[in-house]
Amino acid sequence: MKPAFEAGRPHGASKNLEERLEPVRKMLLPCMQCGTCSGSCPNAWAMDFSPRHLWRLLLTRNGEEIFKSRTFVLCSTCYSCTLRCPRGLPLTDAMSMLKQAAAAENVRMHRRSVGFYKSFMESVRRHGRVREMEFMTLYFLSMKNPAIPLRFTPLGMRLMAKRKVSFEIPSRGMGRLDAFFRKAKAVEDQS
Ligand code: SF4
Ligand code: SF4
Repeated sequence: MKPAFEAGRPHGASKNLEERLEPVRKMLLPCMQCGTCSGSCPNAWAMDFSPRHLWRLLLTRNGEEIFKSRTFVLCSTCYSCTLRCPRGLPLTDAMSMLKQAAAAENVRMHRRSVGFYKSFMESVRRHGRVREMEFMTLYFLSMKNPAIPLRFTPLGMRLMAKRKVSFEIPSRGMGRLDAFFRKAKAVEDQS
């Protein structure tokens, strides 16, 4: 059976993901499974595993289950869980680290989310703000699947008719945030 997650690299992918999970696991060791994080999370209703359940999977070394889950992708970085965890654990950072691991290892199940995020950031880098039309064009191109834009065409037409999105041809922009993005990348590479 085809594995539920498949990394871009053909060999050692699971090992890479496991290595990336190790620092998150260390951070979460003091978790006492009280469930306060799940009870505080505004997005828990949409998650397949609650945050508490995710930490349990992490601590019991069920890495594959974690990367099959959409829980960390749905984290909106609101910090409620971090503020309320009785152990003072950096839970929002842990969610971010899982997102980064899935992106870095090109986990198949999360490629759409990663493509969406990258397209959004590219538009911001070019123009200093997101241009919806360009953002969606970049996203659809990155997916290399003509069925996806077709599915969104009626919604796009409705939004344009209501002037919720403006028609702007994608362009390279002024790159005003280039220096900022370069600096952020350098900091990330050092950490
Ligand atoms: S609130 Fe903290 S201690 Fe409680 S389950 Fe969540 S991570 Fe664990
Ligand atoms: S930071 Fe993420 S996981 Fe924590 S409460 Fe907010 S949305 Fe939920």
